Amino acid sequence: MPFDLAARLAERHAAHLYRQRPLLDSPQGPLVQVDGRQLLAFCSNDYLGLANHPEVIRAMQQGAEKWGVGGGASHLVIGHSTPHHELEEALADFTGRPRALLFSTGYMANLAAVTALVGQGDTVLEDRINHASLLDAGLLSGARFSRYLHNDAVSLSNRLRKAEGNTLVVTDGVFSMDGDLADLPALCAEARLKDAWVMVDDAHGFGPLGATGGGIVEHFGLGVDEVQVLVGTLGKAFGTAGAFVAGSEALIETLIQFARPYIYTTSQPPAVACATLKSLELLRSEGWRREHLNKLIARFRQGAAEIGLNLMDSPTPIQPILIGDSERALKLSALLKERGLLVGAIRPPTVPAGSARLRVTLSAAHSEAQLEHLIEALAECWPQVAGDA
Ligand SMILES: *Cc1c(COP(=O)(O)O)cnc(C)c1O
Repeated sequence: MPFDLAARLAERHAAHLYRQRPLLDSPQGPLVQVDGRQLLAFCSNDYLGLANHPEVIRAMQQGAEKWGVGGGASHLVIGHSTPHHELEEALADFTGRPRALLFSTGYMANLAAVTALVGQGDTVLEDRINHASLLDAGLLSGARFSRYLHNDAVSLSNRLRKAEGNTLVVTDGVFSMDGDLADLPALCAEARLKDAWVMVDDAHGFGPLGATGGGIVEHFGLGVDEVQVLVGTLGKAFGTAGAFVAGSEALIETLIQFARPYIYTTSQPPAVACATLKSLELLRSEGWRREHLNKLIARFRQGAAEIGLNLMDSPTPIQPILIGDSERALKLSALLKERGLLVGAIRPPTVPAGSARLRVTLSAAHSEAQLEHLIEALAECWPQVAGDA
């Protein structure tokens, strides 16, 4: 029978992989209203607590009054307005790159960059647990596509040896479901030996990492000669929406000329760019947000280790608790929810089979008391789940 959607959906249910969307009825923040209940959330990507910041909100309101609410057209027609342009200049300055180009979403920025740079006869090499948008981009590009072992420079080197044409090495900066950092010094060194370019998607590194929030390239001190294509998204620590690619003058002009996901879409509302200009200023200057976040990360790891939870090798606000089995991950999430805590269970295919986890994320907006509450609840709930393996 064609299109037997009911059977597909039933199968997903039976495998404990069915997805539901919690209905949020409040702004982002530690305390949220979800499905009619107030919950303490540890699952947003608003790492610095800027998504509901009064100054960012005001910048968006003023932006809307001055520029209206719609982008109006694509950037190449009449949709590229002064706030977009100012934000691109500010992002170039922030990343220490000659230029930056603004996109409406991170997914599109990744599709755009990879497909504009490589095609038939070329090679794209990706970490096997890269974000879905990067893997999709590699497939769409038409280049020879191969995935190397997670964060493994030797595995990359073996694939580089067989690469043909222009070769692009693509990695998450901070891995979105694991929280670990790409070993960029080693990966960039391998790429350089073969004249390959390196593209880093640092969606989760901008904000939390680096002395001024400049992400993994600031953390490791890598310039445009080591990481030729740098992607950041604005919907996470920046607290707004959109994304950017930063790099050389020639890279940005190439994207403007050839990147279809850039060309054939409407620009983001200029008021959003006004909001991001403000959140960028706060992200760079308010170092106390990173300091507080780092304190929370250290305390969480210590508390979780005492309970005997299986943490991952993460120095970032992404602190997954590895469970393995999807049903048990769902059960732990449900037990926490009974105690007023919201932490999402992340299951395949978002993560590899057999590696379901609770993805705990911390934010500078969390208080120490809120974190203690999470640790106490985990201490109570974990034995109930650990016991029925
Ligand atoms: C969230 C995310 C994206 C997508 O960004 P959006 O702006 O949400 O489309 C891309 N890459 C990584 C690593 C991400 O975590």
